[in-house]
Amino acid sequence: MVDTGAHIPTWSGRRAQAALRKVKANGRRRNTPCFICSQPIDYSLPSTDPDGCTVQHKKSRKQYPELTWSPSNWAPAHGSCNYSAGLGDASIAIGVTSQDW
Ligand SMILES: [Zn+2]
Repeated sequence: MVDTGAHIPTWSGRRAQAALRKVKANGRRRNTPCFICSQPIDYSLPSTDPDGCTVQHKKSRKQYPELTWSPSNWAPAHGSCNYSAGLGDASIAIGVTSQDW
């Protein structure tokens, strides 16, 4: 029951960073606002900044682990918004994966 993510790589490491770069590049180009609060994102900030861009999964990774790596399920969100949205989607913790799952 708990191993729904068995075949799906954890959201961490190089793949997650590549995904973040992609989301940032697209967001910067289209000036995409935050998926959660709809406010503009300063894409020049590092993702470790609470106001910086992080990857938000539109559908929670916990409920839809199979969509973890689907680019269509990614959206830019402020680190602080992403973090407070909870759901274990704290992509702000990239590189610090102890919070993952
Ligand atoms: Zn926000």
